[in-house]
Amino acid sequence: MTKDDPKATTTDAGIPVSSDEHSLTVGPDGPILLQDHYLIEQMANFNRERIPERQPHAKGFGAFGHFEVTRDVSAYTKAAVFQPGTKTDTLIRFSTVAGERGSPDTWRDPRGFALKFYTTEGNYDMVGNNTPVFFMRDPMKFQHFIRSQKRRADNGLRDHDMQWDFWTLSPESAHQVAWLMGDRGIPKNWRHMNGYSSHTYMWVNAAGKRFWVKYHFKTDQGNDFLTQEEADRLAGADGDYHRRDLFDAIKRGEFPSWTLRMQIMPFEAAKTYRFNPFDLTKVWPHADYPLHEVGRLTLNRNPTDYHTEIEQAAFEPNNLVPGIGVSPDKMLLGRLFAYADAHRHRLGVNYHQIPVNAPHSPVHSYSKDGPMRIQNVSDPVYAPNSKGGPKADGERYPEVATWAADGEFVRAAYTLHKDDDDFGQAGTLVREVMDDAARDRLVANVVGHLKAGVSEPVLQRAFAYWRNIDKQIGDRIAKGVTGG
Ligand code: NDP
Repeated sequence: MTKDDPKATTTDAGIPVSSDEHSLTVGPDGPILLQDHYLIEQMANFNRERIPERQPHAKGFGAFGHFEVTRDVSAYTKAAVFQPGTKTDTLIRFSTVAGERGSPDTWRDPRGFALKFYTTEGNYDMVGNNTPVFFMRDPMKFQHFIRSQKRRADNGLRDHDMQWDFWTLSPESAHQVAWLMGDRGIPKNWRHMNGYSSHTYMWVNAAGKRFWVKYHFKTDQGNDFLTQEEADRLAGADGDYHRRDLFDAIKRGEFPSWTLRMQIMPFEAAKTYRFNPFDLTKVWPHADYPLHEVGRLTLNRNPTDYHTEIEQAAFEPNNLVPGIGVSPDKMLLGRLFAYADAHRHRLGVNYHQIPVNAPHSPVHSYSKDGPMRIQNVSDPVYAPNSKGGPKADGERYPEVATWAADGEFVRAAYTLHKDDDDFGQAGTLVREVMDDAARDRLVANVVGHLKAGVSEPVLQRAFAYWRNIDKQIGDRIAKGVTGG
C-alpha cells in the first residue's frame, strides 16, 4: 500500500476489518452471526453517540482563535492574559438559550458568547451573552425562568403564555425583555453582534488594588440584525444559518474580530454608585463609566470535529486566573456552581482532560481516578506530604480578589441604590437608544409575540408591564393586540 491509498478500516481496537458493507452471515441469505464483533461495535457505538444536551444553550457552534492585548491595562489587573502584547489561544462558543440542539438558529433569544482563554496561568473562561443584562438578579429564579422558556408539561410545546406569565410576574426582567424584543433579539449572524460579560467581575493589579469591571466585546464587523419575517423564513429554510455563516466565513479566510473594551469602577465607588453595580438587570451607563480598550479577539480556525471540540467544550465562570475575581453579583455566584456541575453530569468528572478543555499550562492537582480519567496520577496522592508533591504557594498566589461582608443570614432583595428600579433602564433603551423605525419594529415584534397564544389575565399584565417601561409604547402594544 502506498501513502496515497485510503487507510484500511479497523475496529476501535485497531484490528483491520474485511468489509464496510456486509455483516457476517451463514451463507449469503442466512442469519447474522453474533461473532461479528465489528458490526456489534458499530451498532453499540452508534447507540451511544449522543451525550446529554446542555440544559440551556443547547444549540450552538464555535471556533478557535486568539486574543491579543493592544493597550496597557496593567494598572487594573495583573492577569497574565491581559498584560501588554500578550497573545493567547482562545475558543468561543455561540449559542441560543432556550432551543434544543436541533432548533433553528434564528429564533428570537439572547445568544451565548462563551470564551475560553488558554492562558499561561490556567484556563480563564468568560461565559457571556450578546446582551449586557439578564432577566433576573437571583439564581433562585433561573431554573424557573428556563422552564418557562422551554416546553410545557402536557403537549411539549413552547408557550408564549407561560413566557409572559413569568416575565410579567418578574418585573426585573423588563430591561432584558425590551432588549430581546428589539432588533438585537435576532442578530444577523454571530459575527455581527457584540458579546458582554454582563456580570460585574473584579480585577486586581500587582499592588493588590481592586476594581469592579464589565467586559464589552464590540464586533468589528458592525452590529446587524434580522427582522422577525427574515428570521421566520430562515428558521424554515436553513435552521443552521448562523452556524453555516461562521464556518463558511472562517473557511473563506474572513476572520471575524471583536475589540474588547472594559468599564472599570474604583472598588470603593460601588457602595455609593446610583445603581447597584452587581445587579445583573442593570448596565452602568457609559457616561458614568466609559469604555477602555484592551485588545482584540480574532477567530481564525474552524473545528475539525464538532463533537469533541464544541459539543464537549465546557465553559465555567469559576475558571478565573490570578488578577481576576468574582463580585457580589448573585447570579454570577450561582453560576460558579451550576456550570461545573452541568459538566460533571454531561461529560463526567474528568471533563477537564478532554483536549479542548485541557489547559495549555501544566496541571498539578490532587484530583484522582473517576470514569474516563486519561492522565496518570502519581504518588503522593495527598497533601500535605513530605514526598515532593505539589504545594500551594500562598505567597505567590494570595487570595486577593475579596470583599468584606457581614450581616444576618437573610433571603432578601439587593439593597436598593438611589436610581434603582425595574423599568428605568428599559425605558431609556426604548426612548433614547432606539430610533423611530427600531421602536416600530419593537412594537410589531411584541404584538406578534403576544398574539401568538397569550391569554388573560397575562395579556393585561403584559400591557401594564410595557406601560411601565414606556407609556406610549405600552399603549401602542395594547392597541396592536386588541385592535382597540
Ligand atoms: P449609550 O448611548 O452610551 O449606549 C447605548 C448602547 O446601546 C450602546 O452600547 C449600543 O451598542 C447599544 N445599542 C444600540 N442599539 C441598540 C438596540 N437596538 N438594542 C440594544 N442595545 C443597543 O447609553 P448608556 O450607556 O447610557 O445606556 C443606555 C441604554 O443603552 C441602557 O439602558 C441599555 O439598555 C443600553 N445599553 C447600554 C450598555 C452599557 O453598557 N451602558 C450596553 C448596551 C446597551 P453599540 O455601540 O455596540 O451599537
